[in-house]
Amino acid sequence: MIKLIDTHAHYDDEAYDEDRDILLKKLFEESVEKIITVGCALDRWEDTIKLTESCEGIYGAVGIHPEDICGLPDDYLRQIEELAKKPKIVALGEMGLDYHYENYDREMQIKVFTEQLRLADRLNMPVIIHSRDAAQDTMRILHSEKPKKAVMHCFSGSRETAAEVLGLGLYISFTGVLTFKNAKKAVEACEAVPMDRLMLETDCPYMAPVPYRGERCDSSMILSTAAKMAEIKGVSTEEMIEICNKNAKVFFGI
Ligand SMILES: [Zn+2]
Repeated sequence: MIKLIDTHAHYDDEAYDEDRDILLKKLFEESVEKIITVGCALDRWEDTIKLTESCEGIYGAVGIHPEDICGLPDDYLRQIEELAKKPKIVALGEMGLDYHYENYDREMQIKVFTEQLRLADRLNMPVIIHSRDAAQDTMRILHSEKPKKAVMHCFSGSRETAAEVLGLGLYISFTGVLTFKNAKKAVEACEAVPMDRLMLETDCPYMAPVPYRGERCDSSMILSTAAKMAEIKGVSTEEMIEICNKNAKVFFGI
């Protein structure tokens, strides 16, 4: 079986503290080719770098997640820029807007998102975008900032939003959500994404696909999401993985 590329994972998460090294070793031995581990907050980036240095197949992304904007130091962009020079940091993110929980600071989220998009543009780095319950503002910012190379991660929006995202030249990446019973919208959106703009991800430790739903997720479970995507696109699972791997390699330059 062809090996998997997980374009979005969080192996710095405490969910892996007990067995991280053993798990990663097993994943690379058995089913995984490459992983992008995403560092979402300032105090996570050191772990991101360590992970990329500990394992040949692990690459990293650094950015400020919209839920982690509290108490950002003035020089956070300079810190990202410094880390982006490291050879295995291949993208900025995840960044974006999240209006899911109450008491979010909308103005600040927009500011931090926009600043990071501009930095990525200046550094010529691909961008990983997170958008939850904030499609309208996210799209407005993307229309005005026009990122050169970006992926909308953990996509669960409508077919219409997918079309708009694709119109801006973005990639669309799906997690295990695609396999959920109530994921009709995501399935319809997936149908509309051209083969050369699709990517696969876990967003682990969250979002474990069916039949692992509710369990701690890891990169091997991408196989279930790939099988579902293959079914939607009318190709074999092997072929689907091959296509998504190729897209990931082009997108991240890995
Ligand atoms: Zn994530």
